[in-house]
Formats: sequence, structure tokens, C-alpha cells
Amino acid sequence: MRFAIFGDIHANLEALQAVMADAEAHGVTHYVCLGDVVGYNANPHECLEIVRSLDCPVVKGNHDEQASMTDDLTGFNPLAEEAINWTRRQLNDEDKQWLRDLKMVRQVRDFTIVHATLDTPHKWGYVFNQLDAAASFNYQHTTLCFYGHTHAPRAYIREGSVKSQVLDKLSIEPSKKYFINVGSVGQPRDGDWHAAYCLYYPDKNLVELRRIEYDIWTAQDKIVAAGLPQRLADRLALGK
Ligand code: ZN
Repeated sequence: MRFAIFGDIHANLEALQAVMADAEAHGVTHYVCLGDVVGYNANPHECLEIVRSLDCPVVKGNHDEQASMTDDLTGFNPLAEEAINWTRRQLNDEDKQWLRDLKMVRQVRDFTIVHATLDTPHKWGYVFNQLDAAASFNYQHTTLCFYGHTHAPRAYIREGSVKSQVLDKLSIEPSKKYFINVGSVGQPRDGDWHAAYCLYYPDKNLVELRRIEYDIWTAQDKIVAAGLPQRLADRLALGK
């Protein structure tokens, strides 16, 4: 059994296709999606179709929530808001219903998945430091939990106190707890433009971060052609 754990695709079809190809090349047998399938980039419907076709566990992200609602937007910056309004026009009723039906938190086998935080998942807070991670750990009943939302890969480890470390290859020890950010497929913000996701090997107790090259130029061209803000195209190359 080999998992590909990915999220924050944000309608970036080129990045998602590259990640799917890499996962397949690594013999992945199971897929898990951490939400924010849509928002920001130019192919929300197409990305949603791919994720739906995997028939895998998916949790809801804040952009999934907003894109599938009809009322006014709250708590979004102007750039995100413009993209959400555009995204709402690209999705059909079936797409929106599928997004609306997503759960906030799920347990998959022996691990947990959530988009933002475990303590208040529906409030969309950000885990940026040990203190934020500690709040989530209080609600974590499995050794491993994967999350997204910050678009920056990171591992928080609780062994008495909470430590933070760069995510590369990480051995999982059952005596500790792990809150692992798998990074973003479609809009990384850690200064590296490559698409990010994780492989998880349960029998080896190993989590591995992958960074994948993709056709960023096509993704950028599509954003501009769609009439979405130029800055959304520019930021892909900057990885922020
Ligand atoms: Zn996101």
C-alpha cells in the first residue's frame, strides 16, 4: 500500500497532471486529497473531475466552501475574492454540490486528514508555528495527521513538547505524534515553484515530500487568458 497525499491544487491542471504522473510512476495505490481543489488558477472544473475520478477520501478547503456557496464572500483578500467569483461561474451545479458535500475532517485507515486545523477546522485558521500545531495536537487521536492550507510543507512533531522541522524524508515512530503539511500542488508559497505533495508508505513508516516540475508557462498563460488577475500568474513562478 502506497499513498499519494495532496492538496491545495487550486485549479492548476498542469501541476495536478504532473503530480498524478509522478504518483503513478512511484506505484501509488491510494490517493487522499486535503482540499482546496479550486480557486486562484484557470481549470477548476477539470481539476475537480480528476479528483472526483480518483474516488478517494477528500476533505473540504476554504476555497471549496466559498466557491460552492451563493452568498457574499467573507474573510478573503481581494485577489482571492476575484478568483472565487470567477470560479463560481466556471463550476456547474453538480460540481458545487460535490464540493458542498465534502467533510471537514476524516480518518483514513490509521491517519487523519484536515485542510486547516483540527481544533477548529471550520474557522480556517493557519498553522504557522509550534503553538498553532499544539492546539491541533490536542484533537489528534492518530499518530499521523496530514493537512494543508498554508501552502508550505512542514512537519510538526509532538514528543512531550512540539518541535518543527523541514519536511523531506520522515520516519514515523508510533510513540510520537505528527502533524504534517504536504505543501501545495497548484500554488506553493515556500519560495519553490515546484508542485508539492507527499508519498506515505505505511509498511515502511515513511513519509516523503516530493517536488515536481510542471508546465508552469501554460498554467500562467491560461490565467491571463481567462481574465484572472496577472498577479496570480506571476506568483506561481515566485512560489509565493
Ligand atoms: Zn489553499
